[in-house]
Amino acid sequence: MKRILITGGAGFIGSHLCHHYLEKDYEVLCLDNLSTGSFDNISAFSNLPSFKFIEHDLTKPFKFNDKLDAILHFASPASPVDYQEKPIPTLKVGALGTHNALGLARAHQCKILLASTSEVYGDPQVHPQPETYWGHVNPIGPRGCYDEAKRFLEALTMAYHRTHGLDTRIIRIFNTYGPNMRIQDGRAIPTFISQALSGKSLTVHGQGDQTRSFCYIDDLVNGISRVLESNYHLPINLGNPQELSVLDCAKLIMNLTQSHSKIVFEERPIDDPHTRRPDINLAQKLLNWNPQFSLQQGLEKTIPYFKKKLINSSSENEKSLSGTKESITF
Ligand code: NAD
Repeated sequence: MKRILITGGAGFIGSHLCHHYLEKDYEVLCLDNLSTGSFDNISAFSNLPSFKFIEHDLTKPFKFNDKLDAILHFASPASPVDYQEKPIPTLKVGALGTHNALGLARAHQCKILLASTSEVYGDPQVHPQPETYWGHVNPIGPRGCYDEAKRFLEALTMAYHRTHGLDTRIIRIFNTYGPNMRIQDGRAIPTFISQALSGKSLTVHGQGDQTRSFCYIDDLVNGISRVLESNYHLPINLGNPQELSVLDCAKLIMNLTQSHSKIVFEERPIDDPHTRRPDINLAQKLLNWNPQFSLQQGLEKTIPYFKKKLINSSSENEKSLSGTKESITF
C-alpha cells in the first residue's frame, strides 16, 4: 500500500485530497494544526485504519520514520481574511513550513507536490495568465504576506529540485470552491451563499466588475492527481477559465438559492486583483485535463452543503443562546 502525507489535510482542499487518496487505496497521513481547517472535514475518515491525523504546526520540525511515497504540501491560510489576520504565520508556513516539507521529501526520497496560487500573478497586467508571466505583486501591501510566501515557496522548491534533484511539482491554483469551505471563510462564494441563504444582503466589493474564474473542487482534485503522476517540474496552472464578474457571480447565487436578498456595494480591498483567468493550455496539453463542471453545476453541488451547515450552526446557536431571536431563514 502506498503512503501519502497531506499537509493542511484538514482544510478545504486538503480534506478532498484525503478522501481522493483513501479511495485510491493509499494510506493517508493528514498533518494539520487546525488553524484554519477543521476536524469536521476529516471526521468521516478518522476511524479508518488507513487514515491517520497528526496535529502539528509544520513551521516546527517534523520527522516521520516509516516510508513515504509522496507528499502534498497544502498547509497555509488561503482566504484573504485568514492570511491578513495571520500575516506572520502565513509567511512562516510558506517559508519554514515549505522548508520542512521539502526536507522531509528529501529524507524519504519521495515526490512532493506543492500548492502555489494564482496570487503569484498579483494584479495581473497580462490576461489570461500563462505560467510564463512573472506577475505584478505588491510585496509590502496587505496581501504581500500570502503572495510573497507562495513566490518564496516556488523559489525554494525549484532550488531543491535543481540542487538536490528532488522530484518536485508546483501547481498554481486559481479560485476553487466547494463543500468543506467554512461559512465565515471570507472568500466570495461561501460568503455570497451564506448571505443569500440567511436573507442577508450580499456584500460585493467595489462595483463588482472585477472578474474571477471559479473552479469546482472535484476538477481541481482530478488535476492535482494528474500533476502528481506527471513528470513536469515547472509550475502548472490549474483553474477553470470560465470568467465572470463578481457581481454576476452574486446574481447567479441569488438565482440558484432563490434568494430575495439585496446586493450592497462595499469598498474594494487594497490590491484586490481586477481580473483573474487561468491560461490552461499547458495543463490541457500535458495532462489532457479540462474542468468538467460549469460554475452553475458546481454551485448546485455546493449550495446544499452550506444549507446543512447553516441549519446546524443555527441550531447550535439556538442551544447556546436560548432566548435570543436571531434565526436563519431559507
Ligand atoms: P484552508 O484554509 O481550508 O486549508 C489550509 C489548511 O492548512 C488548514 O487546514 C490549516 O489549518 C492548515 N495550516 C495552516 N497553517 C498550518 C501550519 N503551520 N501547520 C499545519 N497546518 C497548517 O485553505 P484551502 O483553500 O484548502 O487551501 C489549501 C492550499 O491551497 C493552501 O496552500 C492555499 O494557498 C492553496 N490555494 C487554495 C486556493 C483556493 O481557491 N482554495 C487557491 C490558491 C491556492
